[in-house]
Amino acid sequence: MTDSTPTDAASSHRLRFAPSPTGFLHVGGARTALFNWLFVRKYGGAFLLRIEDTDKARSTDESTRAIFDGLRWLGLDWDEPAVYQGANVARHRSDALRLLAEGKAYRCFCTTADLDERRKAAESQGAAFVYDRRCDRLPVDEIDRRIAAGVPFTIRFRVPDGTTRWDDMVRGEIAFPNADVDDLIILRSDGTPIYNLAVVSDDIAQRITLVMRGEDHISNTPKQILLYEALGAPLPRFAHLPNILGADGKKLSKRHGATAVGDYEHLGILAEAMVNFLALLGWSAGDDREVMPRADLIALFSTEGLLRKPGVFDVKKLEWMNGQHLGMTSAEVLEPLLSPLAVSQGLATAVELATRRAWWLQLIDLLRIRGRTTVEIVRMAVPYFRDDFEYDPDAVAKQWKDRDATARLLEAVRSRLAGSGWDPVELERDLRALADELGIGAGKLLQPLRVALVGSSASPGIFDVLVLLGRERSLRRVDRALTMLAEAD
Ligand code: GLU
Repeated sequence: MTDSTPTDAASSHRLRFAPSPTGFLHVGGARTALFNWLFVRKYGGAFLLRIEDTDKARSTDESTRAIFDGLRWLGLDWDEPAVYQGANVARHRSDALRLLAEGKAYRCFCTTADLDERRKAAESQGAAFVYDRRCDRLPVDEIDRRIAAGVPFTIRFRVPDGTTRWDDMVRGEIAFPNADVDDLIILRSDGTPIYNLAVVSDDIAQRITLVMRGEDHISNTPKQILLYEALGAPLPRFAHLPNILGADGKKLSKRHGATAVGDYEHLGILAEAMVNFLALLGWSAGDDREVMPRADLIALFSTEGLLRKPGVFDVKKLEWMNGQHLGMTSAEVLEPLLSPLAVSQGLATAVELATRRAWWLQLIDLLRIRGRTTVEIVRMAVPYFRDDFEYDPDAVAKQWKDRDATARLLEAVRSRLAGSGWDPVELERDLRALADELGIGAGKLLQPLRVALVGSSASPGIFDVLVLLGRERSLRRVDRALTMLAEAD
C-alpha cells in the first residue's frame, strides 16, 4: 500500500462497480462492489453502479437482476440510478471517431481471419503476436479507395512510444513499456465499441475519480490510461484488489463450491457475515480483529489497510464468522429470516409463528448462539415444533445404554417433573435434588432426559428446553422414551 488516503473534499469521490451481466454476482464481483462501497461510505462521495451490457450475445436480463438482488441482499446501495453501458454506444463511437479524426487512431482493414492466421504463425514460432501496424502505413489514396469500395474496417488506437506508469493504491508504482502494448482495436467493424474504450468513455462521462477493481484488470490499465490521455481527460486513480483463492491456494473457481453470493443466502449465511467475510479478502483493520459489524467496517476501513496478498475464500471460516454474527444478532432481527425457513420446512404456518411470537423469539434466542447458519438453526428447532423428530442414534447408544436403568431413571424424572414448578430455577433445583437422592451426578440424569426431550445430546440448557416445551409436551416425550426403552427389550 502506498500513500493514498484521500484527503480531497469528500464529496468529490466517485467510484463505480461495473459488472458485466453475463452470470450471477460472484464472490469476486461482490468483493469489488463492497470495497468501492466501503471507500465511499468511509470517505464520502458517490458509489455508482454501471451494468456493462455491451456484449449483447452474453448479457442477460436475468443476470442483471441477479446483480441487483445480490447487491441489495448485501446492503450495498448505489447513489445514482444504475447506468447501462449499452445506452452509451453512440458516445463510445464518437470518442473513437474523434481519436481517428485527430490522428490518434487509424482504420485497420485486416480481417479476423487474416489476424488469426498471423497470430498462429507467430505463436508457432514461439513469439507473441503483435499487430505490425501494416494498415497504419497504407497510403491515403489506398485508404480512400477501400473506404469507397465499402471494405469493412475496425478502428485501432495507435499506442504512442514511451512508458505508462501509475501509482496503484494497492500495489504502488506500476510501469508498462508501451512497446509491450499492442495497438488495440477500439471500435469493431460493425461500429460497436471494444471494452477498453467503452469503460474509459463511461468513466470519463461519469467523472470517476478512483477505479477499484480486481487485479485481473491490471493489463488493461495501461491501455486505458493511454486512452484517457488521448481523449484529453484527467486520469482517475487506480486500485487493483488481489485475487481470491480457494482454501487449497488455487484461484477461486466453481470447483471450490458455490461462487455466486446468492447461493450463500440460501445456505443460511447472513448478509452481515458475508459482508464482513468479503471485507477481509484484501483488507485488514490493522490488528487481529476479524468479526466486525458493518458500522465498524466503515469506521475502520482505510486505504492503508488494503492488502496485496491474495484473499482466501475458506467456506469453513465463513460459516464460523456467520456463527459469530448469529450470536451478535438479536432474535427480533433474526426472526424475519428464520420464519420463512421454518414455514418452508413445515414446522409451523406463518400464522402459528405470529401467534406464538414470544415463544418463537425465546427459542431463536436459545438457538442463535449454537448454529452456524440460519438453515442449521431451523434444523435444530425441529424438536421444539414436532414430536416426530429423529433420535440421534449415537446419542441413544451412549445415553440410553443400560435400557432398564435408563427406564427406571426416566420414571423417577417423570414423577419429579410432574410435581415441579415450571420455571428454570425450580426445575433445576428439583432435578438436581433427585440426582442427589439417587446418588448420581446431575449429568447422568440430565443427558438421558435431554435425548428423550430433543433426540440428541446437544441442546440449549435443559431447564430452558423444558420451559420452552412446556410440562405436557415434556412429559409426553418422557413417556415416549419409556415406551421406546420398553420395546427395545
Ligand atoms: N465489466 C468489467 C468486468 O466485469 C469490469 C470493468 C472495470 O471494472 O473496469 O470485469
